[in-house]
Amino acid sequence: MKRIPIFILTILALLAFIAPTHAQSPINITANTFTNNFRQNLTFRLDATSSAKITDVALFIQLDGIASSSRWVPEFTADSKIQASYAWNLNQKYLPPGVTGKFWWTLEDSAGNKAQTDKEPFRVEDASKKWSKLSTDQFAFYWYAGGDNFGKRLYDAATAGLNAVTADTNTRVPRQLQIFIYGNRQDFVNAMDPGMRDWTGGRAFSEYGITLIHIEPNALNFGLRAVPHELAHLVLHQKLGDLGVSALPHWMNEGLATYYETVPPTMDEDYARALKPAVQNDKLLPMRTIMGNFPTASDQAILAYAQSYSMTDFIVRKYSRAKYAALLDGFKNPRYFDDIFREVLGVDHDGLENEWRKDLGLQPRAIATRSTAQPTAFPTFSLSSDPVLPTRAPTTAGAQAATPVPPTSVAQAATPAPTTVAQVATPAPAPTPKPASNNPLAGICGGLTGFIALGLFGAMRAWSRFRGE
Ligand SMILES: [Zn+2]
Repeated sequence: MKRIPIFILTILALLAFIAPTHAQSPINITANTFTNNFRQNLTFRLDATSSAKITDVALFIQLDGIASSSRWVPEFTADSKIQASYAWNLNQKYLPPGVTGKFWWTLEDSAGNKAQTDKEPFRVEDASKKWSKLSTDQFAFYWYAGGDNFGKRLYDAATAGLNAVTADTNTRVPRQLQIFIYGNRQDFVNAMDPGMRDWTGGRAFSEYGITLIHIEPNALNFGLRAVPHELAHLVLHQKLGDLGVSALPHWMNEGLATYYETVPPTMDEDYARALKPAVQNDKLLPMRTIMGNFPTASDQAILAYAQSYSMTDFIVRKYSRAKYAALLDGFKNPRYFDDIFREVLGVDHDGLENEWRKDLGLQPRAIATRSTAQPTAFPTFSLSSDPVLPTRAPTTAGAQAATPVPPTSVAQAATPAPTTVAQVATPAPAPTPKPASNNPLAGICGGLTGFIALGLFGAMRAWSRFRGE
């Protein structure tokens, strides 16, 4: 019986606190709108009146996935009746489709009256396409080209990959990830940020949990690996907290993504082709060298992906999936890499590499002796968004030569180098049995904050294969 009066009193007290504030404020909001003009800008507009001249107006924008909000000063003329607007220029501050957030305004007039609008949700949309969507609580999959079956196949691959990687790594996806499939090169270019390299085939915006991938409807086999690969990167970023995948050796990031390209995991044929002779000739890359960015030479980059897969597979086989998950957990707290490996697996990074080499039938790698008190100096370092691919020759022809866009899109390229066009447009003669997989991801994904680059690597050959199919 006692609780009811207290409850009522509380309500009354709140009303007494709130009501006068509203009643006293002469600032009146007459319009408050958000207009999505992707890919040019996002326009926020506010109309307001007051008994005195409104002198200060600010717009606050909070993007989901970003810890802090940003404050922007709109254009307006101080008056008792104002129209304020702010255009978020997407050419200067690019945001991918799917980004969500909240915005609100604060106002103050010359009499010292203040007001703040409610926080309103908004979403960045690519309205130029008629998107189809399939979704679960964990991810939303969008596509517009290729028909229902094309989308469903990719969605099913994404679902299988996501279920496997989240279960195996004991990861909960805190908010819905989003995948946008662009089925045409020009559409993809139009949607991406202006700084996109001409060889970029996709990009993961990890902080927002969003990935955009260019998959032509006739490139289903590429897509069936590309989608779960990128999704695995996004999941891993979610798992690792604030640092995201920058906390990991790069080979672990790519190792996980390549491992979960299929369920159950299978090594892509491009990787296998690269790994086999490297093992036979004892030409494996030292794992230390692929803790950071991968090699720029295409054959070495593919080998780096192959080794990343192989090492991941080895850890799971030798130590168990649970240990692998524990290893990932270990990277949530930045420390020396060696300490994390030793703590979870009982061996340091070099020791793990030699166990893996032994499993492949190789002798231990000769490693410079160092004091055990001096751990390998590989503390957390940022992978940043640096592409793993080489900087191409600064000539137009050089840049274009590195762009094995799908044959159908070649005509749209501004100045395609003739030699490239010839290579890309020539269907594979297929003198050998068609491989089961086409994986331009062999060496083309720059990691979670990086790019999938349809360039320099197996992409050209892969696209030719697609065309041949
Ligand atoms: Zn990747």
